Amino acid sequence: MEDVVIAGAGPNGLMLACELALAGVRPLVLERLPEPTTENRANGLVGQVVRLLDRRGLHDRLAGPIAPPAPAFVFGALRLDLTLAERNPLHILGVPQRRVAAMLEDRATELGVEIHRGHELTGLTQDAGSVTLDVTGPGGPYRLAARYLVGADGGRSVTRKLAGIAFPGVTDDRTLSHTANATVPAELTDPDSGGLHVPGHGVIPPFFHYRTETGLFVHAPFPAGPLISTMEWADAPESADEPPMTLDDMRASVRRVLGFDLPLGEPEGDGPHLLRRLRGRNTRLAARFREGRVLLVGDAAHVHSAVGGPGLNLGLQDAAGLGWKLAATVRGWAPAGLLDTYESERRPVAERVVMHTQAQSALLAPGRDVTALRDLFGELLRLPSAVQHVADLMSGADVRYEPGTDHPLDGRWAPDLVLADGTRLAELTTTARPLLLDFTGSLGDELRGWTDRVDLVSGHAAADATALLIRPDGYVAWATSSAAPDDTERKALHAALERWFGRPLDA
Ligand SMILES: Cc1cc2nc3c(=O)[nH]c(=O)nc-3n(C[C@H](O)[C@H](O)[C@H](O)COP(=O)(O)OP(=O)(O)OC[C@H]3O[C@@H](n4cnc5c(N)ncnc54)[C@H](O)[C@@H]3O)c2cc1C
Repeated sequence: MEDVVIAGAGPNGLMLACELALAGVRPLVLERLPEPTTENRANGLVGQVVRLLDRRGLHDRLAGPIAPPAPAFVFGALRLDLTLAERNPLHILGVPQRRVAAMLEDRATELGVEIHRGHELTGLTQDAGSVTLDVTGPGGPYRLAARYLVGADGGRSVTRKLAGIAFPGVTDDRTLSHTANATVPAELTDPDSGGLHVPGHGVIPPFFHYRTETGLFVHAPFPAGPLISTMEWADAPESADEPPMTLDDMRASVRRVLGFDLPLGEPEGDGPHLLRRLRGRNTRLAARFREGRVLLVGDAAHVHSAVGGPGLNLGLQDAAGLGWKLAATVRGWAPAGLLDTYESERRPVAERVVMHTQAQSALLAPGRDVTALRDLFGELLRLPSAVQHVADLMSGADVRYEPGTDHPLDGRWAPDLVLADGTRLAELTTTARPLLLDFTGSLGDELRGWTDRVDLVSGHAAADATALLIRPDGYVAWATSSAAPDDTERKALHAALERWFGRPLDA
């Protein structure tokens, strides 16, 4: 019997596979596509997920060392001047999803994970001890038993449906989006900003979501080739016999949004070149993230508008949240209820993403009342505290899991510490082992009984804490600021160790 089967080798399934393998459980990944998809969705990663990749040594593989947070971003097509924020948390990594998935597949394979391509999950039943899967592979149908199944099979998740988990939410048919790789004439490009001179609109900055009364326009001059994107408000439901999108469709959509014939040329280079038409959008959250031995991660658990690019920030952190807890459960040291904290922690985060993507969609809508709301929102976004709030929301830096103590870092994402010898916390977390960072030099003995599961790091660092217990997913499980932690604090440390990492070996 397999310990864990993951259905779906998209980015979130692959990330989960890496996290499980790091925690000592090698899952089997089933992917219905025979080859990696050439479809590109995400153009980049936004928020804490960039720091998560750094903490696994994966940022380096995609783009070298992590860059400082972005100086500006967009919220509901309004400029977010992040220089106003006291603590700017918004990291951005402009790497296409295809490359993220390819890198994760390489990493999973390195860690010994088997990925069976061309194998589609088609049925499942479960009892108290196992899940039985029906799979159709290149050699025909077969059966497979596993202790756990994780559905990472996207928004239309077969796993979710087979497990009988409802997917309530809304489908909004009013939007029509076009995206294409296309060139724009050099004389329309502003040499200083890279923006576009568009008669009647001035210079539209690059990567900016520009709203008009009829829709939204984005010009993204990526190094691999510029991307033009529009979103319109159109009551035009999808029709099965609609011809494939052409560059002329893109031109016509830009004309409707900007009231100007932007002379878009054929894309340069070998491609593949994107021509994508999407109608409507779904906002849905699975009724449960777990049904017995079946769990959901990523788009299988939640779908929402892609505005602001929050999808992989949510999904890859779901995977990091679930990986170590599921591995602990399989390996037998999980404290009671640990696996259920996956949902109790991640559902509220998904709900916040649903909230802010819907709020942004509302700010993009046509109409004078929306324009007035945008004017007001724009004024608010000149207040540093409002910028901080929105930046924390979009990045996920405001996430706080249920703390065990009242230390301000407890339950929060561990800060980017640098030890006195120059070692970054991110270098200590590539193995995804729980860590006790002890800058007091007095806590080593407290780990007795947990040294098989938790590593001790001694040293010094300028930090808001003198010791921190850090979970594999990067969140703080306990912290103190005392130079010499007293008995009460030591008891709280023990409680945190038991709460997250189970009983001590000698107990
Ligand atoms: C147009 C667009 C733009 C986006 N832009 C961004 C962005 O800029 N930033 C961002 O963070 N996010 C963005 N997103 C969201 C992001 O693409 C998704 O959140 C992400 O793809 C979810 O990954 P996943 O692994 O959960 O699911 P998927 O990527 O959908 O992968 C699911 C995998 O499961 C496989 N599968 C399905 N059914 C089965 C089965 N029965 N058996 C076996 N395998 C199966 C599929 O073939 C697929 O490989 C965008 C989405 C869209 C649509």
